[in-house]
Amino acid sequence: MDLFEYQARDLFAAHEVPVLDGLVATTPAEARSAAEQLLRGAGLVVVKAQVKTGGRGKAGGVKLARTPDEAEQVAAQILGMDIKGHTVHRVLVALGADIDKEYYVSLLLDRAERRYLAMASVEGGMEIEQLAVERPEALARIPVDPLVGIDEAKADEIVAAAGFDEAVAPRVAQVLRRLWAVYDEEDATLVEVNPLVLTTDGRVIALDGKDPLEARAKAKHLNYVKLDGQVGIIGNGAGLVMSTLDVVAYAGEAHGGVRPANFLDIGGGASAQVMADGLDIILSDPQVKAVFVNVFGGITACDEVARGIVAALEMLGDEASKPLVVRLDGNNVAEGRAILAAAAHPLVTLAETMDGGADAAAALAAAA
Ligand code: GDP
Ligand code: MN
Repeated sequence: MDLFEYQARDLFAAHEVPVLDGLVATTPAEARSAAEQLLRGAGLVVVKAQVKTGGRGKAGGVKLARTPDEAEQVAAQILGMDIKGHTVHRVLVALGADIDKEYYVSLLLDRAERRYLAMASVEGGMEIEQLAVERPEALARIPVDPLVGIDEAKADEIVAAAGFDEAVAPRVAQVLRRLWAVYDEEDATLVEVNPLVLTTDGRVIALDGKDPLEARAKAKHLNYVKLDGQVGIIGNGAGLVMSTLDVVAYAGEAHGGVRPANFLDIGGGASAQVMADGLDIILSDPQVKAVFVNVFGGITACDEVARGIVAALEMLGDEASKPLVVRLDGNNVAEGRAILAAAAHPLVTLAETMDGGADAAAALAAAA
């Protein structure tokens, strides 16, 4: 899925996931008239930057307004803003919620295990990456059988594991069942709601829904699917990437059960820019502890791929902070390996074989 928040919201609404009414505006004047409509019978609207990246709140891209005037003013501040390299061309003016508690829920594909994973926490609001690192025990992770999906029993299991209050648990469970319908019927690979909120008047509402890493990858025209694992994968050709996932999942079993973190096929032309874009996305997945680059030199020969990797690491600078295992094979493989050996980047290890590379990357991820 490659969706702005307002599009995700429409999809949620179509599946009866509770969301608040909103209107899209591209100018401060439009935001004003949207607020005029919404504020009939309500005291609060929220003006939200529509960009395909998270962290808008922190960047100043989410602001509350109590009058049409105020909505116009904050829209003027938000429109044109740059958030992590994305210029804001649209805002969503939505009914504001009076928030009592913020929760987190998501559904994603666990390709290595050929099943899905539901994640939930009663500690939403903050960046989930931060929660996963700082308080992993506060993030419940429940496997979901693709043939069964999230039925009543599964939804109850998830809310129990996450520790939702008895009073709110049934409503969160209902939202989870409806999110499953979004996931299943819309062929999503990740559905994330952060925050899912409890309002002061006792309603459970999805305040924000999107798919950050995948949307970023789409914007760069990369074929990327986030999975639940620790070893980032880059390869060329869907077949090679799929078998790389299997080999890493297998190798990971000997290293405490580490698993592939993503599917990423950089295709035929593994230029430095494509390699840098791919690495950038994988390295910004906080679950990733090590990366396995597995490339077969064809039309783009191994020496070009090797130069691409060296240049990508230069472009990324300090952002490249996790170990990389590189296995090259195919055209000009000797030249490619020589280029990487000569560059002697401290984070890069060369592997001779796919199995050896998978094992080395899994070991590095397990040791991190
Ligand atoms: P993100 O920062 O890009 O994930 O954007 P969110 O839509 O998640 O908004 C960030 C934060 O703004 C949320 O975690 C809330 O704390 C706050 N926020 C968003 N919408 C509302 C609202 O309707 N009312 C209130 N009070 N706060 C909101
Ligand atoms: Mn959010």
